[in-house]
Amino acid sequence: MPPDAFHLRATVLPYGDAPSDLWVRAGCIHSRPIDGAEALAPEGGYVLPGLVDAHVHLVTNREYKGLPAGSREVVDRNRGDFLRRGVLLLRDMGAFTRREAEQPATLGLPRDDGLPPVIASGQPLAPEGVFTGIQEPTTPEQLEAHALRRARDQHAPWVKVILDNFPPHFAPAVDGVPGMVNYREPELRAAADAVHAAGARIAVHAFTHEAAASAVAAGVDSIEHGWGLDGDLVEEMARRGIAWTPTLALDAMMLDMAAGGRGQSQSAAVGRWLHEAVDRIEPLIVRARRLGVPLLAGTDGVEPVAREVARLQQAGLEPADALATASSAAREALGEPGIEDGAPADLLWFAHDPRESPELLEQPDLVLLRGERIESARG
Ligand SMILES: [Zn+2]
Repeated sequence: MPPDAFHLRATVLPYGDAPSDLWVRAGCIHSRPIDGAEALAPEGGYVLPGLVDAHVHLVTNREYKGLPAGSREVVDRNRGDFLRRGVLLLRDMGAFTRREAEQPATLGLPRDDGLPPVIASGQPLAPEGVFTGIQEPTTPEQLEAHALRRARDQHAPWVKVILDNFPPHFAPAVDGVPGMVNYREPELRAAADAVHAAGARIAVHAFTHEAAASAVAAGVDSIEHGWGLDGDLVEEMARRGIAWTPTLALDAMMLDMAAGGRGQSQSAAVGRWLHEAVDRIEPLIVRARRLGVPLLAGTDGVEPVAREVARLQQAGLEPADALATASSAAREALGEPGIEDGAPADLLWFAHDPRESPELLEQPDLVLLRGERIESARG
């Protein structure tokens, strides 16, 4: 008879400094010994709650030619890729291109289908004719009603609002001087209040200072990107418990676009804005951590989340704090359990300490989802 219980003796990451014991049975973590449990891995090593990518776009068809963009098949193939890399919890921030937006397939996904659970926002909200065209067209007058419908009627746990543009698109509008904000603070505040009353949370895409200031004042739940934040706003975020997903690893792609890559028009002004923004927010991320702002590792699906952890570490976060943004701290901020008694056994095991080499995070030695052993990217 195959064993139905497993044991691990390992150092619990991100903050542990000595091995401890945990057991797994019926898909869950147990802190009390279970007789006859089989060792999952050699003693020693490191155990981490499954990685979290808090900003992805699962409808994007990057690799699977022949599958319809925006379809459930694409979403599940993408979830499978995250699974094999040990990313076991995803927050989806909506459709990514116009074609994909027609058929959002991320709301209401099952939680127990052998793939990483998804906390989804559905289609983001923005006015017609701005941004990339992926949004549900929403005038300022419609913002509160659309946000409420998404949260209350479509049961989205998060609602995503596009409050300003994407830096490579600043240039045609205002010659690299960002300034466009889609909704005024009272409209955003009414939407945030409506979403909160429906029991959901609201995430706001904000690159510019103007947008970030408005989002913080309106009392939203997370700032996505936030490259225009400053010290005062970060202090206010700490007071209000507003999370920050800096998506730092996007800088290379954005700079490439500002230089005329990926079909964008070249803009030296946008390039300068990007360099200045990244130089400014790196120390701000360290300050945010010190003040207790929940920091979330998110990638837009452009880079592995391990790369974002490495970038946050380069920006000055302690290795354990950087790792927490993609594991324990992210889970706590998103209301999901980590390594605790009775929690789903969504775990990674590493023979070597990924705090010393974040690139190890890309290839866990063992991946467990709901206690099931997964063939990992390494295996
Ligand atoms: Zn995004």
